[in-house]
Parts: sequence; structure tokens; C-alpha cells
Amino acid sequence: MKTADRMQGVHRSYIREILKVTARPEIISFAGGLPHPDSFPAERVAAAAARVFAEEGASALQYSTTEGYAPLRKWIADRYARQGLTVAPDDILITTGSQQALDMAGRALLNRGDAIVIERPGYLGAIQCFSMYGADFKPVDLVSTGVDVDMLESVLKRTGARYFYAVPSFQNPSGISYDKETRKAVAELMARYDCVLIEDNPYGELRFLGEDVPPVRCYMQSPSILLGSFSKMVAPGMRLGWIYAPDGLMDSLVRAKQASDLHTASLTQSILYRYLADNDVDAHIASIRERYKTHRDIMVAAIREHFPEEVATTEPEGGMFLWCTLPETVSAESVFQEAIKHNVAFVPGKPFYVDGTDNTFRLNFSNASPDRIEEGIARLGKCLRDCLA
Ligand code: PMP
Repeated sequence: MKTADRMQGVHRSYIREILKVTARPEIISFAGGLPHPDSFPAERVAAAAARVFAEEGASALQYSTTEGYAPLRKWIADRYARQGLTVAPDDILITTGSQQALDMAGRALLNRGDAIVIERPGYLGAIQCFSMYGADFKPVDLVSTGVDVDMLESVLKRTGARYFYAVPSFQNPSGISYDKETRKAVAELMARYDCVLIEDNPYGELRFLGEDVPPVRCYMQSPSILLGSFSKMVAPGMRLGWIYAPDGLMDSLVRAKQASDLHTASLTQSILYRYLADNDVDAHIASIRERYKTHRDIMVAAIREHFPEEVATTEPEGGMFLWCTLPETVSAESVFQEAIKHNVAFVPGKPFYVDGTDNTFRLNFSNASPDRIEEGIARLGKCLRDCLA
């Protein structure tokens, strides 16, 4: 059947496709972006669910408002207050994961052909989503301190782009985090060039090294939106995220969401809120950070031991990913084909670029166990040595 024109430039998620190959148990996979399942508070969520049904009964199963469950929106606003950000709960829209927040932002903001600045490499799910609305991507490189501020300015000047989509904390895929100076500089550029920042922050709470820095939103003098998610803090299967949309954007987002799904599941919102209210969430997040720091340290140490020197890697201070750059002449796609033969997998970098670059790849360190990380990196190191020989 012939599909709509808008589907033409939109590719299937490459990662979802790769996950089909890497699901075999003999494969050590650093490919998916999966949190560690031991970090999911299953029993406590079950207790929260029991309490919701005991107290609310059938009303927990009723249709609800598009904006979301009021106590959950307030919980999010209160948490922002701890970072020095004053947020009205009314400016928060609960979404079905932050992926839906991206979709709602795309629907509400983008016209076909609109220029949108994106990090290079950039989050694949945003590239897929904004492609659907005909975005004209303008990539700007990432450096170790965050986005390349000079390049950002020249791209804004040259293209007149009105949007900048960014993941400033522990970015997917690179693991890079913007330092404070870069955050301030971005805020200043957004105001000067009348560009709206779409700040996606699903990993901000997962810092395990270095000093905390607040969202770029804290430095903004001009309109911006900020996306958040419970996927990495609690569990992705609940599919709960949000969009903080001040400056009169909420009404358009609500209309876009109504057309999409009326509202995010009210039952899971109530259960999540009960879980958050009845438990020490900070202690829970601290335990995730500790776990991921151990995983990251083991991966970094194994890389230093086994990878050839020509392979450059980031050493992230948080999040779930580490990024590797091969010499320019080497294709990560062909290394991937070799790696699969050695029962180890990663995500080749190509789908994270809008310009086809193929000498990078992403490693996830949250999901595999420490001994599988050591073994997998040793296998991958051997494979890289063979490919670079
Ligand atoms: N944004 C970024 C940068 C992500 O890495 C992800 C998860 N892969 C998402 C948004 C979507 O996450 P969720 O819908 O589970 O909140």
C-alpha cells in the first residue's frame, strides 16, 4: 500500500533492528540502551499498585485529564525546585515516555522544511521523530565540553534555525555532558539568535562522577522547553515522561496530545506517584548511580587494556553510554559484522548522524554484568586489532 509522503524519509529504528540480532544469549551486547533490570524496584511498584487499587478502586481505571495526574506533576515541579528551577505544575504535561514528548514538540512546533540544529552525533530517536515532520537538520559537532559553541553560533547565523534540540547531560549516544560555561554560552546564543532550545534530559539524575550542573533551562533568558523521563530513574516499561512547556506552549501541546492518545495511562501515573511518595527515591537513584559507576569503571579499564591506541573513547561522568571513534578510513559497520562473529555487539554510529559518518560506535555499559563487560571488551579489543591491522 502506498504510504504518506511523510513516511518516505523516516527509517525504522536501527537499534530496534539490531536488538533482534543481539538477543541471542551467547552474544554479549553493548548495543541496547537498556537500564539494568536489577535497578527496577519491582516489589515496591507492586506494593504501590496494591495501595492504589485498595484506596482508589475502580476510579483508578477511569479516563483522566490530558495534562496528567496532578500530584505527579507537582512532584516533578518540586524536584526541579531543588535544582533552583521554579516550575509551575500547570506547565508540566505528562507524556508516554519522553519519546512522546519529542513527538508532541515536533507536532506542535515544526513546519515542513524548518531548520533545526542537532548535535553531531545526535539522538537517533529525535532524528527519527523530527524527520516525520520534515525537519531540515543542521548538525553541530560535540567536543569534550559539550556542543562546539563557535560552530553553533556560525550555524545559527548562517541558517537562521529557530530550534536547537540538545541532550546536554550524558548525551545519547556520546556520553558527553556540557560543562557550566557551555550551558551559559548556549543560553546566551539562544536568546541572541531567537532560537528555542528543546532540552532533552533523561539522564541528568545519573551523574556518578564530577560536580552536578543544572539544566541549561536554569540559564535561559528566552523561551525553551525541557523534557524529562522516569525511564532511567524508575523503569522504562511504565512509559512515563514529561515536557515542561512554559511561555504559552502548553495549549498546543495538549491539543497535539489529545489527537494522539487523549492522555497517558492514568493507572500507571497513579502507581508511579504512589511509588515516589512512599519510598526514598534519592536512595534508589543513588544505588543506580553506584551500580553504573562500577560498570563504567570496569568498561573504561578494560578498554584501556584491550583496545588499540588508535581508537579514541569518551570517559563519561554519568549516564549509560560511551562513544568510540575509529580512524577515519575504518567503517564501524564492518567492525560490527566481525564483532557479531565473535559474539559481541555494539551500535555502529551511522544512524546517529544526518550526514552518513561511519567511523564511530556506541557502547552501553548499564545493562551487561561486570564480568560480561570485561569479557565482551576483551573480545571486541581483539576484533578491533584484527580490523585495524
Ligand atoms: N531522549 C533520549 C536522549 C533518550 O536516550 C531516550 C531513550 N533512549 C529517550 C529520549 C526516550 O526515552 P523514554 O521514552 O523511555 O523516556
